[in-house]
Amino acid sequence: MKCALCRRHTETSLCTNCWNYAIEKLQVFPKKYEELEDELLPSRGRPSERVGGSKEPPLPVRLEVLYLRSNGISKPLMNHEAKIRIEQRHTRITFRGQELNRITVTCQYLRHKRNGFMITMAM
Ligand SMILES: [Zn+2]
Repeated sequence: MKCALCRRHTETSLCTNCWNYAIEKLQVFPKKYEELEDELLPSRGRPSERVGGSKEPPLPVRLEVLYLRSNGISKPLMNHEAKIRIEQRHTRITFRGQELNRITVTCQYLRHKRNGFMITMAM
């Protein structure tokens, strides 16, 4: 089997290097979410979301950032977690409150599952 990302030979869908890289990236998701707050407002001087030639004023927020700050990060992560929970026969995801908490708890779960996976693989 080949790794889904780097195409190297592996016994699993992702090789150890790509898996570790992904897990490493999971750790910074909550911090990146918080950093996006500074990117929400269009900066002056930068061409914003204004359509070229339009006399309409620019949008008050950057839409791609607004999307990421309103379920754009947590939803795909939690969908992935939900699939793992079904496979592992864990309880369903419970209410987690605001977006930052959803991202943080989901990343913790996914990282924890990785450790369980690696222990299983070592046996
Ligand atoms: Zn790989």
